[in-house]
Amino acid sequence: MLKLPIYLDYNATTPCDLRVVEAMLPYFTEHFGNAASRSHPFGWHAEEAVEYAREQVARLIGAEPKEIVFTSGATEADNLALKGVYDTYATKGNHIITCQIEHKAVLDTCKHLEKEGAEVTYLPVSAEGLIDLEALEAAIQPNTILIAIMYANNELGTVMPIQEVGAIARKHGVLFFTDAAQAVGKIPVDVNSDNIDLLTLSAHKMYGPKGIGAIYVRRKGPRVKLAAQIDGGGHERGMRSGTLNVPGIVGLGKAAELCLQEMTSDAQRLSIMRDRLEGALLGMGDVAVNGSRAHRLPHVTNLSFKDAEANGLMMELNKEIALSSGSACTSATLEPSYVLKALGLPDELAHSSLRFGLGRNTTEEEIDYVIERVTRAVKEVRARVIRMEE
Ligand SMILES: *Cc1c(COP(=O)(O)O)cnc(C)c1O
Repeated sequence: MLKLPIYLDYNATTPCDLRVVEAMLPYFTEHFGNAASRSHPFGWHAEEAVEYAREQVARLIGAEPKEIVFTSGATEADNLALKGVYDTYATKGNHIITCQIEHKAVLDTCKHLEKEGAEVTYLPVSAEGLIDLEALEAAIQPNTILIAIMYANNELGTVMPIQEVGAIARKHGVLFFTDAAQAVGKIPVDVNSDNIDLLTLSAHKMYGPKGIGAIYVRRKGPRVKLAAQIDGGGHERGMRSGTLNVPGIVGLGKAAELCLQEMTSDAQRLSIMRDRLEGALLGMGDVAVNGSRAHRLPHVTNLSFKDAEANGLMMELNKEIALSSGSACTSATLEPSYVLKALGLPDELAHSSLRFGLGRNTTEEEIDYVIERVTRAVKEVRARVIRMEE
């Protein structure tokens, strides 16, 4: 039985997996201890749960548990990565290389650092949404301290050439930070094979709870130092003070474990459904995929519908299908998405683009309905345009 509305906005957030909720529940009530309370079993039990979750998260990205620092989410972790490196390595240099289609948590933090004296290079991307590796290498200067390139883009689902970026960073002795909030738990990520020094992730993008995330901080080859951005108490080896969100951390750990187990089968199932949806909508004509199809997450497609404004489409659809035009963070503004503009898309196509993000609960039946419903909406909106032109 089909239940409306259908959720196809899994890049904005995911529902918490019931198995995650179950794992978390005892830590609100029975095991409510403060993980920093060393003097009694309530504290010990909480700390044990936190350390177990740290192992679960580390395993998912090929890291050591000690390299995981819990934060309130990817936004905070992105701030900590950029500001923490900038503050620590100021004597080495002030230059950061990033790209134009990073998440606002990275771009706005870079803007903030520019006010403090940082020099930031914002690399452009190709029409496919990928950075040019030669341009990246050419941008490295003697004062470059950090390369910040996202793993997968939240609006397009495109996946950057992370291994190659890591190799370039390592060759030049520059630290490499990747915002992997969209990639971790969806595709295999390994901090060692990719030479990643800093990585950020968020539980609510991978079927865990909101308000919890983590940063991976490499401990050897090289050992990365981060200046804390939140002081007090010295939790998380001094990098992020504040009483640990034990239920949230337990949930993130469980979510990571489930992703490790189910990532391959989820990706297979979802990519088949995504391709079916995409194929059917492309079949309408005057529909195009935004960003690389070859280098892309398995569950996302971003499509532009010529002569069918996303606003009009959303008005037709949004009671039945939850979608995003642009990213959830910018959809409140009427500016065309900066990501789509960076691809070189003309404004009218950027304004006619929708992101379809599938997820763990998506069914074949839902995809059938979405194909039928979106096709009808596009035809209706296009017919309106023609009537107006007459
Ligand atoms: C969602 C997201 C963030 C922000 O994560 P929060 O945990 O919601 O703060 C950062 N970067 C990317 C790429 C994201 O998709």
